[in-house]
Amino acid sequence: MFNLNKIVRPNILSLKPYSSARDEFNGSTGIFLDANENPFGTLNRYPDPHQKALKQKLAALKNVDHANIFVGNGSDEIIDLAFRIFCEPGKDVAMTFSPTYGMYEVSAAINNVGLIKLPLSTDFRIDRAVTRRLLDQEDLKLIFICSPNNPTGNTFDRKDIEMILTHFSGMVIIDEAYIDFSPEASCLNLIGKYPNLMVSQTFSKAWGLAAARVGVAYAHEAIIELFRKVKPPYNVSGLNQQAAITALENQAEFERNKEIILKEKAKLSKVLSGMEMVKNIYPSDANFILVEVENADKIYKSLVDQQVITRNRNSQVKNCIRISIGTPEENLLLLKALKNLNHE
Ligand code: PMP
Repeated sequence: MFNLNKIVRPNILSLKPYSSARDEFNGSTGIFLDANENPFGTLNRYPDPHQKALKQKLAALKNVDHANIFVGNGSDEIIDLAFRIFCEPGKDVAMTFSPTYGMYEVSAAINNVGLIKLPLSTDFRIDRAVTRRLLDQEDLKLIFICSPNNPTGNTFDRKDIEMILTHFSGMVIIDEAYIDFSPEASCLNLIGKYPNLMVSQTFSKAWGLAAARVGVAYAHEAIIELFRKVKPPYNVSGLNQQAAITALENQAEFERNKEIILKEKAKLSKVLSGMEMVKNIYPSDANFILVEVENADKIYKSLVDQQVITRNRNSQVKNCIRISIGTPEENLLLLKALKNLNHE
């Protein structure tokens, strides 16, 4: 049985959070002499530490209560906070399904938390039986499920995810950084059903705001409260909050760009699959494709020499390069560079 108080680090449970000037007075009119701000300038005031305007927009878009929303400095901050809230350094462990996004492992190492990396099957599925056995391990506090998964591109089976949520008495974070590109449904609607679930999304991918650093997590109110306690008071800048609000007000552009990316992905995959050097293209629900080639190191390097930069994933998945979908022009240049390789 999941008991939040049992899995939170005791020092976090008893933590008295910092109370900012804007916590102690949150009206909008008056002369503000309380935060040691500079009275001159346009960026001189601290931003809203609770990102109320942004959360209001997200609440309407996602049909959740604002109390179920946490906004982070990118979803990388959410990953780090999760380790700091739930895992006792040098004692507790977390789990991921490998290969997956590299920051889970780096964050675990920074926080001195052990990491179980359970290998995915050759078609990148979760091994349900092996996973089920590990869920009872007492020091296992946190599981990351990246779905759609980076770098493999697939969305995990809902049944596997729900099996984990049902039988695990620690926290599960489903990282949905790429969910907007996926034809599969988000797990967001499961937060009411599973008290140990947090779903994390980001403005960095389909919303096109990687520079702004805005990640969003959805969970039961008690979990969101813990993240609020632990975050730095002004973790998301005013400029970045406004960038996300502006993007949300222009949903037509979001849809338009997403459609172009998805169409380009289909087009690019088709042409690539006809190339002799390409051995396999893994099905992808994201804005990238994982391509198995004859010799990933060589192809990656030759592409770099032609100023086309892909991600060599050979160390994670043998002879695979990961290609982000670019603009139609960029994708044509990629294909041209690959054709040049044929003539080397
Ligand atoms: N999760 C996954 C699966 C990612 O691939 C990335 C970035 N590549 C992130 C999280 C980090 O995203 P953000 O920009 O929101 O920190």
